[in-house]
Amino acid sequence: MATLMSNYARLPVTFTKGEGALLWDTEGRAYLDALSGIAVCNLGHAHPKVTAAICEQAQTLVHTSNIYGIEHQRRLADKLTSLTGMENSFFCNSGAEANEAMIKLARLYARRKNIPNPAIVVTNQSFHGRTLATLSATGNPKIKQGFEPLVPDFIHVPYNDVAAIMQLAQTQQNIVAVMVEPVQGEGGVNIPAHDYLNQLRTLCDQQQWLLMLDEIQTGIGRTGQWVAYQHNQILPDIVSLAKGLGNGVPIGVCLARGIAAELFSPGTHGTTFGGNPLACRTALAVLESIEQDNLLQRVNELSAHFETGFATQLSDVQGVQSIRVKGLMIGIELDQACAELVQQALAQHLLINVTAGNTIRLLPPFILTDSQADKIILTVSGLIKSFLAMH
Ligand SMILES: *Cc1c(COP(=O)(O)O)cnc(C)c1O
Repeated sequence: MATLMSNYARLPVTFTKGEGALLWDTEGRAYLDALSGIAVCNLGHAHPKVTAAICEQAQTLVHTSNIYGIEHQRRLADKLTSLTGMENSFFCNSGAEANEAMIKLARLYARRKNIPNPAIVVTNQSFHGRTLATLSATGNPKIKQGFEPLVPDFIHVPYNDVAAIMQLAQTQQNIVAVMVEPVQGEGGVNIPAHDYLNQLRTLCDQQQWLLMLDEIQTGIGRTGQWVAYQHNQILPDIVSLAKGLGNGVPIGVCLARGIAAELFSPGTHGTTFGGNPLACRTALAVLESIEQDNLLQRVNELSAHFETGFATQLSDVQGVQSIRVKGLMIGIELDQACAELVQQALAQHLLINVTAGNTIRLLPPFILTDSQADKIILTVSGLIKSFLAMH
């Protein structure tokens, strides 16, 4: 019997080494990584500054406990609040945990408002994690199935539909928060109307609801701003970040401002590992590298490059439904299920992903060269064209 649980359908490849946008398998073959470990290794693999920070910190101090002050955690909180416009931070180890903290803050907010049975508005096709509360919030039935009873009182509405939430406000007196992704990642790289977040901000202000943004995938530069809500010039009340923050060293954070920043008090929430010196020092090195190497600008350049490249290759191809690009979140939706493209790309030594059944998803690292970007555009376009020609 296999000694690993069977919860993953793994591809038949194992990597042992990485550098920049390249990975090498156990046979020494090189692959171009257009997925970054699902929006995690944004600076590429074995980034020199990040590696140096990890090594230095490992030789100095790895873990103490949140019972004590943690210097790098304080520095990271200062840095993240100044980059995002938020006021304070709770550090944890993953995206789901950051969202759990966000949901717990919404519950405490409900206590303040004397609402005993609070509801949180969430969206269809959303993904918020695999813990019981976050899978209950998730808008994908496959992720919930088998895990009932769910955490109650997440109300699902269509994504990019503010009117649907306004209508809910007429009848539901117990709503305390709206929780959305600025771009849905797992749900198929769904990009809402340019003013969706602005309208949600206005509605939440009118109703005195918390606006809670799940930026676990969109944050840390992925869309060309530090956080995607900076495209809209608004601030949420709470935001969760994780994936890109540690470039592969596990770390998540829940950031809050205003009333949401005052809800936790000693004993209301906690974690053993969260925000330890190693993870925080690594995240500081990640943020410094993005700044020093002007990588937000590079994300925007590469984004434009991919957008024109894929439009040139694919816009006239029958069966390509839409090409969606926000920063380095790229979705190419076909008119049919296309999961087999992942294996076909692997055979050509390119790592891609298919999500929501029919959408090819690319999340390449920010340090990609122009010629690597061109190679991705040509390989993916070629695969799509031959796939569609045969189906
Ligand atoms: C990946 C992801 C999560 C879950 O993060 P984990 O670290 O896997 O728990 C939650 N929300 C969004 C939008 C994500 O992309």
